[in-house]
Amino acid sequence: MSEIWYNSIAMNIKKLVKPGVYSLKAYQAKEIPCKIKLDANESPYGFRDFYNVLRSIKTNRYPDPEAKNLRKIIAKEFSVKPENILQGNGSDELIYYLIATFGGPVLFPEPTFSMYGIIATALDEKTLPVALDGTFDLDIEKIFNHLKKENPKLIFLSSPNNPTGNCFSSEKILKIIEKTTQKSIVIIDEAYQPFSSKKGYIPLLNDYENLVIMRTLSKIGMAALRTGFLIASEEIIEQVNKVRLPFNLNSFSQKIACEILKKKELLGKYIKSICNERDRLFKEMSKIKGVIAYPSEANFILFKVENSEMVYKSLLKAGVLIRNMNSVVNDCLRVTIGTIKENNIFLEELRKSILNTRN
Ligand SMILES: *Cc1c(COP(=O)(O)O)cnc(C)c1O
Repeated sequence: MSEIWYNSIAMNIKKLVKPGVYSLKAYQAKEIPCKIKLDANESPYGFRDFYNVLRSIKTNRYPDPEAKNLRKIIAKEFSVKPENILQGNGSDELIYYLIATFGGPVLFPEPTFSMYGIIATALDEKTLPVALDGTFDLDIEKIFNHLKKENPKLIFLSSPNNPTGNCFSSEKILKIIEKTTQKSIVIIDEAYQPFSSKKGYIPLLNDYENLVIMRTLSKIGMAALRTGFLIASEEIIEQVNKVRLPFNLNSFSQKIACEILKKKELLGKYIKSICNERDRLFKEMSKIKGVIAYPSEANFILFKVENSEMVYKSLLKAGVLIRNMNSVVNDCLRVTIGTIKENNIFLEELRKSILNTRN
């Protein structure tokens, strides 16, 4: 009896859910136990000791809805005005806000960060994934075709790109921005720009009114805070701000982010060490027979092996968690740069597992 009741409810819910949402699978962010966590592009270096900050927080009061102090610090860092900054509960939330504000179609290269497609689908907007070329660069001809036929409202370009690690050619990015003036908003997702040797796009904001830059604190040691930013013209910020939930960034995140961002020297030191380790890891991985490592401008390395499932599992068995990208790029795995010690253990276990899977 109770089972029948339950089933009929379930049937009705299916009919009630929006088709886009129904077609989705929940994002897999489950925690896999491991000794060494190199799967989520986090920094191996965290920050601690915020007793004074915590003491100043009034738990009975709402957070500053405008995150004034934090936006001021970010504005100064990037030489823009606070009016050019919008704070998000992670840049994930800002992707949501952008699509809610402008709608679709939403164009993005493939493979790239999965949230562009997931959020567009959840909001019932059309997605236009465009395959990258053989060098993981933008396929400008295919993109221009889509621009002509589909007139996308939003174009998301993650550069450096996740999971491939490379920056897209800046000539191609500029061509896309110029071609779409007055027609589309181009968002450059600079989540990994702190690790890149190539120039970022913030200086171009004055030249192109359809350009938006997205940044996050997640990859430089503050993933726990869920804090990201849009940097754009006041006109764009004003529109997106209308869909922002009033208290989207909690007091703890605002205050702790302000504290950590003051430690510029330490932040810089950590980023430098991650970049050095990335370059060392790339060289060492490239020496292993049966491993093709792809050059990276980010805090992770994508690499190809003969049997990615087996290598992934054997590393996990040894306590090293990386990301299996096989469903996105054939036989590819993605490893986040850790501490020197973590990277050495990863290298050793990778060598072992390659030997084992080859025999
Ligand atoms: C990790 C990542 C983000 C998400 O950042 P949050 O600020 O943690 O939401 C955005 N874009 C890309 C390309 C990423 O890899």
